[in-house]
Amino acid sequence: MQAFEVSAPHAFAIGDRPAPNAAPGEVIVDVAFAGICGSDMHIIHGDNAFVQFPRITGHEFAGVIRAVGDGVDPARVGERVCIDPVVNCGRCYPCRIGRPNVCSAMQVIGVHRNGGFAEQVNVPAANAHRLPDGLDLDAAALVEPYSIAANVLSRMDPRPGDRLLVIGAGVIGLTVLQMARALGLEQVIVTDILDERLATARELGASHTINGRSEDLEQAVLAATEGEGIPLIADAACVPAMLPTILRMACPAARIGLLGFSPTPSDLVQLEVIKKELTLVGSRLNNRKFPEVIEHIATGRLDPKALISHRVPLTEMPGAIDLLENHPEQARKVLVKISP
Ligand code: MN
Repeated sequence: MQAFEVSAPHAFAIGDRPAPNAAPGEVIVDVAFAGICGSDMHIIHGDNAFVQFPRITGHEFAGVIRAVGDGVDPARVGERVCIDPVVNCGRCYPCRIGRPNVCSAMQVIGVHRNGGFAEQVNVPAANAHRLPDGLDLDAAALVEPYSIAANVLSRMDPRPGDRLLVIGAGVIGLTVLQMARALGLEQVIVTDILDERLATARELGASHTINGRSEDLEQAVLAATEGEGIPLIADAACVPAMLPTILRMACPAARIGLLGFSPTPSDLVQLEVIKKELTLVGSRLNNRKFPEVIEHIATGRLDPKALISHRVPLTEMPGAIDLLENHPEQARKVLVKISP
């Protein structure tokens, strides 16, 4: 089968690889569409400490079940599915308290085990979520990025009427915006440094946008909130040096969701955290959010097609990677179309 494999940092190729077999409890999926994510770039650059090479990457994908292993209902062959990449052990402390997305022995599909940039992939049957009729496979490849948004918002405990500030209007920031609107938050401020991305955010329902390069973000946020500050802040830009600004923009009792994966330290002013009794939460991958996201897409409350800017065949993946790295303003989600 054809697959995109990273053999070492900065070394990747599309070539022929053995097709996987289904172990007991697994299914084989014919991949239809797989999305390219910023974290795939980190793997390619050797910036992901968890990955072992060689690796077929890709953790955002959907397709059709072609075969099942022992113990899986054979009636699932032919089922249209999207794949939750979180494979957890079920025994460690986070698993025991219902936090499988921070399992101590987590295996992320496309990171620790082979993923979706391939004609076929083997995954645990429980990770393959059935799609409702009418939910297209290209849209279904975006369930995973929306699950990131669903997870961070659930960690932030939004209340009706809360204002939300989304920092960063790349794909993840836009999924947070759409998910927040789907959950009924009406005042969503989005900031970025690219006007193209802010225009997209306005099309997708942002109530206010701020270009953090041409405006003073902190002043603009205070002006937009009558000086009150913001109760919900989701950081999808993930610039460690921004944390002090984020803390200052937060109103008392605010909840701040952090999505960055940088090892660079941030300055954290304790006084700011304590005097306003701020809650800072990390959010990693997703904690069983696929059913909720699939439901929101099926009922039209999320619009995944608005986030897809390109569809390319597997053979053109290197060009797509180049586009995402060098012209991020020209791309939103790039999908790799794999099986016909
Ligand atoms: Mn991703």
